[in-house]
Amino acid sequence: MKKLDIQAVRADFPILSQTVNGKPLVYFDNGATAQKPKVVIDAITKYYEEINANIHRGVHTLSQLATDAYEVSRNTIQKHLNAEHNHEIIFTSGTTHGINLVANGFASLLNEDDVVMVSAIEHHSNIVPWQMLCERTGASLAVIPMNENGELVMAEFDRLLNDKVKIIAVNHISNALGTINPIETIIEKAHRVGAAVLIDGAQATPHLRPDVQKLDCDFYVFSGHKVCGPTGVGILYGKESWLNQLPPYQGGGEMIKEVTFEKTTYAELPHKFEAGTPNIAGGIVLGTAIDYLNTIGFDAIEAYEQELLAYGTEKLLEIEGVKIYGSGAHKASLISFNIEGIHPYDIGTIVDKLGIAVRTGHHCAQPIMSFFDIPGTVRASFAFYNTKEEIDIFVEAVKKAKQMLS
Ligand code: PMP
Repeated sequence: MKKLDIQAVRADFPILSQTVNGKPLVYFDNGATAQKPKVVIDAITKYYEEINANIHRGVHTLSQLATDAYEVSRNTIQKHLNAEHNHEIIFTSGTTHGINLVANGFASLLNEDDVVMVSAIEHHSNIVPWQMLCERTGASLAVIPMNENGELVMAEFDRLLNDKVKIIAVNHISNALGTINPIETIIEKAHRVGAAVLIDGAQATPHLRPDVQKLDCDFYVFSGHKVCGPTGVGILYGKESWLNQLPPYQGGGEMIKEVTFEKTTYAELPHKFEAGTPNIAGGIVLGTAIDYLNTIGFDAIEAYEQELLAYGTEKLLEIEGVKIYGSGAHKASLISFNIEGIHPYDIGTIVDKLGIAVRTGHHCAQPIMSFFDIPGTVRASFAFYNTKEEIDIFVEAVKKAKQMLS
């Protein structure tokens, strides 16, 4: 395995060398969005300076160049996820869009006897669209519970699973706790009762390379902005058979074969799900971002981030009163914590004054906060461009905040 050259990696990210509030930036809000390497920033400029045109429509040269670049990116993502076909890769505006697209499609397949299953550890994006689906169809919602360690209770999953369950939507990695969920087991058992499985990979794709054929998931969704790409673009992978079965999500240009006032027929995959002018630059540059991450190498990224996680956990726990939530054994590089008697927001505000960006609050996962009976947590989420020195700065800042607030 290639070892990560951290100084070279950091030099790829222009934003990391700036100061915030007079201090060198320490960016630990990677769970919310990742920073962008220069190759990604340059690729956006290059697109607008050199080939900007609408895709799939024009016969002119620029339109063909833009179309080719967009389709090359689709192929890059197909290869990255190891999808069988490139038409199983649908460009979306992000994870939220991908989940809504699938949930909307299932409305045509469900009735009041059916069950939709999510878990207690989901982002609101992977709860609300399924609740809306249940409202529309009369289907009921089942929830796989979580334990104190922030892990799914798999015995309860087994108990809840039966042939009434038509779709299960779970995240690969939790944004609020960092737990890596046993999705392989969930997928295998779901298929035994004929249920489809959607994996929300928003927090997993920055840390690992999913193999959708090996996982055998039916849908896998993620956002470009969390994998060093731009905002406003994401990916829905769906098995060909499922994508053919689901109705289109939005109607408009691009997604049709033929339109008459009597009847419209729909385009083949992937265009059936890509109505309207997409985020062309975003789609192209998402491929650049994925190529960049693969050049660094996910084995190196995972190994290095696990070092950061172990180091950060050990250092934070040295502070009296720190409680880390979801200390499940299998975790990504994210620490969600509180200090006894102190509101997470106050810690976030003080460390910000010291140049450190962390997230505070419920992290769009209110049911998890209710489970622990807390208003929120401080979340430090590490990326492969972070360092142990930054963790030291952060831990000192947390100590200072504790002193000021107690
Ligand atoms: N699911 C998870 C696990 C997430 O972390 C996020 C983003 N915080 C989302 C879904 C939603 O992603 P987006 O806002 O990019 O659509």
